Amino acid sequence: MALPTVAIVGRPNVGKSTIFNRIAGERISIVEDTPGVTRDRIYAIGEWLNKKFSLIDTGGIEMSDQPFMAQIKAQAEIAMDEADVILHVVDGEGGVTDADEYVAQILYKTDKPVILVVNKVDNPERRLDIYDFYSLGLGEPYPVSAVHGIGTGDVLDAIVENLPVDDEEENPDIIKFSLIGRPNVGKSSLINAILGEERVIASPIAGTTRDAIDTHFVDPEGQEYLMIDTAGMRKSGKVYESTEKYSVMRAMRAIDRSDIVLMVLNAEEGIREYDKRIAGFAHEAGKGVIIVVNKWDTLEKDNKTLQNFEADIRDQFQYLSYAPIIFVSAKTKQRLNKLPDMIKDVSAAQNMRIPSAVLNDVIMDAVAINPTPTDKGRRLKIFYATQVAVKPPTFVIFVNEEELLHFSYERFLENQIRKAFVFEGTPIRIIARKRK
Ligand code: GDP
Ligand code: GDP
Repeated sequence: MALPTVAIVGRPNVGKSTIFNRIAGERISIVEDTPGVTRDRIYAIGEWLNKKFSLIDTGGIEMSDQPFMAQIKAQAEIAMDEADVILHVVDGEGGVTDADEYVAQILYKTDKPVILVVNKVDNPERRLDIYDFYSLGLGEPYPVSAVHGIGTGDVLDAIVENLPVDDEEENPDIIKFSLIGRPNVGKSSLINAILGEERVIASPIAGTTRDAIDTHFVDPEGQEYLMIDTAGMRKSGKVYESTEKYSVMRAMRAIDRSDIVLMVLNAEEGIREYDKRIAGFAHEAGKGVIIVVNKWDTLEKDNKTLQNFEADIRDQFQYLSYAPIIFVSAKTKQRLNKLPDMIKDVSAAQNMRIPSAVLNDVIMDAVAINPTPTDKGRRLKIFYATQVAVKPPTFVIFVNEEELLHFSYERFLENQIRKAFVFEGTPIRIIARKRK
């Protein structure tokens, strides 16, 4: 269930981010609308032959305070720590450089598969140059031209061949959640408090390919949970662990593996850019979101403090209007006992299926209150709606012309659906499809 991970390494300018973007493909466009999320993207999901994997561009994890070679080394170490398959990218135009050899030498230490990618082989004549790269001792070089998309299919085949086989059964009854937030917001304290409160039997599950630790537990009612290991919980003191990009990358990976994300904020510090990026990512990924404001004990409060804080959150996370907010203290345990029920409610909401007959009643009532829009003399006609998926709940609306379902009307329909059914904590998706 943990997605296998592929990391791209190599000295600067060989084309790592170009290759990353090629492999990441369409998923990019989904996320691009959320400001801040895609800026300097270093993490994405790739897919080839129906196999999904997470993809990391280690070149994007810069450590500006470190000398050149130390940075390259740290990036290779991230790949060895995090990935199941490593792509070592070199530049076919210039031949083997010292930096390429240095990276190769670090990679000798890993027993993970390394695929040697010789980029910028833009035309067939250049293919002869790739034989030099056998000297790196990383096996057969794969010639590609990332800008022209030549040869990337062979690299993807090689990646898929080398991915670990995942024979773990998905258990749909387990609620998978993670606590995401900046360092020191209180994630570890909350985890300990949740586990303590529930008087549960918790067993750490060592990750299959990495040293990630997930915690499996069962609450008194028999509900099973998997708490996903999160960025910031592992504190081994490696140089790159303090970089923000690394922490964002690990958070994104944890979010991809979770059904529900507990976005932890620190009441003392308020909302930061990091929080917005992460929350935006969770929203776009269709995950359930609960906003947890921790360290509530540290504030001097009057009768407006809570409302003001809540208003600020609603203002800064407008796309998360569906996310419940809870103000807690891991220290005093204030309201912590409410968290497990909140998680269960969000899980129920994201798994809810609305019968088509009921859904269509709601849609028809909506159209009666607020007639469908017209554009250049054509009016949107809605024929029928049906729910096609859960997690997140996804509705297909059959219409005369897809383009006529503008964003504002879609928003109106979403609001009407939300008024009729309790989808608290989960995004919902509406897809217009032309009736054939
Ligand atoms: P990174 O620093 O390794 O991430 O490298 P980038 O992906 O930023 O690419 C560095 C430069 O090489 C950019 O100017 C790219 O346009 C160029 N580049 C990337 N791939 C190719 C390629 O296949 N052929 C050629 N000719 N140039 C490329
Ligand atoms: P993490 O880095 O997000 O896992 O944060 P920790 O759980 O390690 O907490 C960071 C610091 O904040 C520790 O010193 C905790 O004791 C403290 N802390 C955590 N939760 C609370 C809280 O609710 N109230 C107060 N006053 N301190 C807290």
